[in-house]
Amino acid sequence: MINISHHGAVSGVTGSCHELSITPPDRSHPSAGILIDCGLFQGADAASRLIRGQISKSVPLLAHQSVPALAHQSVPASASIAALAIDFPLDHIRALVVTHVHIDHVGRIPYLLAAGFDGPIICSEPSAIMLPEILEDALKIGFTRDRALIERVLGLIRQRLVPVPYGQWHSVFAADDETGGSLDIRFQPAGHILGSAYVECDVTAAGQAGERIVFSGDLGGARAPLLTAPVSPERADRLVIESTYGDKDHEDRTTRRLRLKDVLQSALADGGTVIVPAFSIGRTQDLLYEIESLIHEFGGEPVAPGVEWQNLEIVVDSPLAAEFTRIYRQLKPMWDAEAQEVLSQGRHPLGFDQLTLINSHASHLDAVEYLASFKRPAVVLAGSGMCAGGRVVNYLKAMLGDARNDVLFVGYQAAGTPGRDILKYGSNAGVRTADQAGWVELDDKRYPICARIHQIGGYSAHAGQSDLLNFVMGIPDAPREIRLVHGDDGAKVALKVLFEQALKAKPESRVVIAE
Ligand SMILES: [Zn+2]
Repeated sequence: MINISHHGAVSGVTGSCHELSITPPDRSHPSAGILIDCGLFQGADAASRLIRGQISKSVPLLAHQSVPALAHQSVPASASIAALAIDFPLDHIRALVVTHVHIDHVGRIPYLLAAGFDGPIICSEPSAIMLPEILEDALKIGFTRDRALIERVLGLIRQRLVPVPYGQWHSVFAADDETGGSLDIRFQPAGHILGSAYVECDVTAAGQAGERIVFSGDLGGARAPLLTAPVSPERADRLVIESTYGDKDHEDRTTRRLRLKDVLQSALADGGTVIVPAFSIGRTQDLLYEIESLIHEFGGEPVAPGVEWQNLEIVVDSPLAAEFTRIYRQLKPMWDAEAQEVLSQGRHPLGFDQLTLINSHASHLDAVEYLASFKRPAVVLAGSGMCAGGRVVNYLKAMLGDARNDVLFVGYQAAGTPGRDILKYGSNAGVRTADQAGWVELDDKRYPICARIHQIGGYSAHAGQSDLLNFVMGIPDAPREIRLVHGDDGAKVALKVLFEQALKAKPESRVVIAE
């Protein structure tokens, strides 16, 4: 039996973790399988796990001895233990396959090790460079400040990493294995963030025909800057596909770029700062790329009173985003043709003159105070993307109460995150006085939202509805089963209807919402 099961990203969009396993029907052989991603739960997804009582099941697993020092750490009260739990059996898991290094796809890896997982971590080559960086940050924020312990965990992760180039088959286990089955995987570019991949799995179980099962991971849109769009798989008997934007399309690239220009100009017209909560990997680099192109095109024109585009200060206040921007620069050969053309003109889309990268905590605090007091026109990009932590929270606390400031959301805001609340209770007209304003709770304190709030959807690194449809329809023979994961309920239902209509002529093809 070849089974697909899910340990996250089913009833929401975070905590992505899927399992592909083979179980001999007569139980004559042990079962074996792989995990595809092992991400953190965030926002309402984490809260709902708490409510379902999974917290009690998870704690004993943290006491497993495979990473003893890790297991003995007390989990900080601020972190949701439920969000970290590995609450499923691992003995038969031979490998973890990572589609990309966003925290909702990799954040539970330290806990996977603590729970006893001792197999390889297989990922694309760029992901292998980025994974220890992102996990170092996650460990520092959510787990421990003990430098030696962090180094040990990262050392373990580095030892387990198996980078596999795009387009190359890699055997996880072979047919002479005790299971009597075999499993090979291949990565293909997913166009979501650098290193992102969808995973093709060729799997056989004893006495059963082989199957090609494809896990989409997160897919990028057709018009993302820097990365080439994903190409549909040549074959997929079963497809597990994300549905984050299953119910809508993004604005096209030209409209989006001009909207970014308009939003920045109107936001900066009254002085004030534009705060952009952005994920360190992907969105930040996409935005820098687009901002550089605006500066290049409109250099001498005013963007704010007395300030021209070419003098606009752009601040990336995040050591992690700065580090990933550096890695993106190093991996220029993986950029798409359009970005290569920009480079050939001698421009530096991720390292232009107006860009300041802030690293140290002291400089961060100085920047918050300076921008909050002097109302200088500036654009600040800081994580986290959903305002659930990170340096952006200090900017919001200091600046949300002033109508001259603006917050620009460029990414999906999950239910239950402060980002979603700011979008819901803020206004794009701005509010002059605190008593008229909606509020958001940050670190247990209410902050009025007087700043103007904007959202540009097109900057999502996720495929829009049409991109998802094209990905599926581009597969020469329709998959026997298309399983929708990683989306809010409305998005999944909308996408199911759309896929069913598109596949009407192929009744052998079934679309299901994963449970
Ligand atoms: Zn992602």
